Amino acid sequence: MQISSVAVFCGSRFGVRPEYAAEARKLGTALGQAGVRLVYGGGHVGLMGAVADATLAAGGTVTGVIPSFLHDREIMHEGVTDLTVTESMHDRKALMFAASDAFVVMPGGLGTFDETIEIMTWRQLRQHDKPIYIVNIAGWADALLAMVDACITDGFAAPTARDLFEVMPDVQTLMATLAALPAQASARDTVATL
Ligand code: AMP
Repeated sequence: MQISSVAVFCGSRFGVRPEYAAEARKLGTALGQAGVRLVYGGGHVGLMGAVADATLAAGGTVTGVIPSFLHDREIMHEGVTDLTVTESMHDRKALMFAASDAFVVMPGGLGTFDETIEIMTWRQLRQHDKPIYIVNIAGWADALLAMVDACITDGFAAPTARDLFEVMPDVQTLMATLAALPAQASARDTVATL
């Protein structure tokens, strides 16, 4: 595995389908076993908590980055390897971005969409060239993908917008894809300074 850390964006709820939590746990376990650091939003709720718990249970390393207003609501994860509390949501996003070699999007709601679109637009604006993977479990991302396609059809995005990210059917395919990535600059040094 060439990458050393991935940011995972996913729901602070579990969603209605059992596959969502099952795949979230599978992702956490696989990251832990592969020795890839999980960078995530630091919460102990929903799919976020499920991924983090599974990574830790597999002996992995977890970096949580949480803004103080969520910390105060006492739903942060107390058991992560390191937890950074930021002043704002913007600081959180910047830190998560800097600490990660790649981005993985799992099922989620508005917060997940926000993080996903943002990281896509940063790539569109050539602020980074880190891979972005959308894991389309049970078709949860179909509406998001349709929205991107509609932007292109309506002339608001170049057809190359579809190349900003890759769609994976499940966690197993994602992990095989990560394992096959060529060597690249690692965010490990950034993580060390968090
Ligand atoms: P959503 O997809 O709407 O569930 O949003 C996921 C996002 O919810 C996260 O990235 C956070 O911005 C936010 N969030 C909600 N609860 C928490 C929590 N306890 N800890 C960290 N982030 C949270």
